[in-house]
Amino acid sequence: MGVDRRQFLKLAGIAGALGLGGSVGFQLLKPGSLDAAERMPTPYQMVFPKSQGNSEVMPNPKALKGRRWGMVIDMRKLTEEKARAAIQACNYYHNVPDIPGKQTIKWIWLTGYVNAFPEVENPFADPEIKNARFIAMCNHCDNPPCVRVCPTKATFQREDGIVMMDMHRCIGCRFCMAGCPYGSRSFNFRDPRPFIKKEYPLYPTRTKGVVEKCTFCSERLAVGKLPYCAEASGGAMVFGDVDDAGSELRRLLRSRYSIRRKPNLGTHPQVYYLV
Ligand code: SF4
Ligand code: SF4
Repeated sequence: MGVDRRQFLKLAGIAGALGLGGSVGFQLLKPGSLDAAERMPTPYQMVFPKSQGNSEVMPNPKALKGRRWGMVIDMRKLTEEKARAAIQACNYYHNVPDIPGKQTIKWIWLTGYVNAFPEVENPFADPEIKNARFIAMCNHCDNPPCVRVCPTKATFQREDGIVMMDMHRCIGCRFCMAGCPYGSRSFNFRDPRPFIKKEYPLYPTRTKGVVEKCTFCSERLAVGKLPYCAEASGGAMVFGDVDDAGSELRRLLRSRYSIRRKPNLGTHPQVYYLV
């Protein structure tokens, strides 16, 4: 497939918008898919001002803006069905492969109370809570150890708090995985693409040798949409601006008691569970 300079710069623009810097890690588009990609909205609906004949990437004016993004998970509303819908949406739209066993790739998953909150284990706790299955995901910590230990800055924190991955800078050392106390990161021990049941064409696939995780759906926020999991969860997951006292997220946090995972570690997780 011939890719001229202008097309190349467009792809580079998409990669730049995602924080992707090099040539491996993500497979942006398959051979022959460039024309189709041009007809479709781009993954992040960035504006390419064709009339100007250049490849400048402009932010989408509809992009959601928050000073500090966070997620609230309402355990009274989170049925198994809603949790599965949220997980399925995330996995499909992010091309998360279905690899069984120890090499599994997890962006969002279900886990038990004791696993999620080992420090608050209490034999007399409400059985409804103790037996509940909690959604776990990257907490987009305010003080993320994963960012501090990454030697190449492949993982970094945005101003709005989202902890991102630059797949092309990732050298696969897995220091970030050792640094994350929540198991929120997964390593591609093998090429994940054969394990994607049905590929979603508007999101890049990854390659062997890189780490991946939840991004709070940065690509959705960039076009004014909420994260897939929040949208699919039937109101059990509420995404919003933790710094905005008038947000729905803050209203929920005022209205009910909430817990966070391993708060004693000082990571300041920004995923809150209403219990
Ligand atoms: S949950 Fe783990 S991967 Fe996510 S920001 Fe916190 S330390 Fe990093
Ligand atoms: S915020 Fe987006 S990337 Fe993160 S778990 Fe939810 S759907 Fe997946």
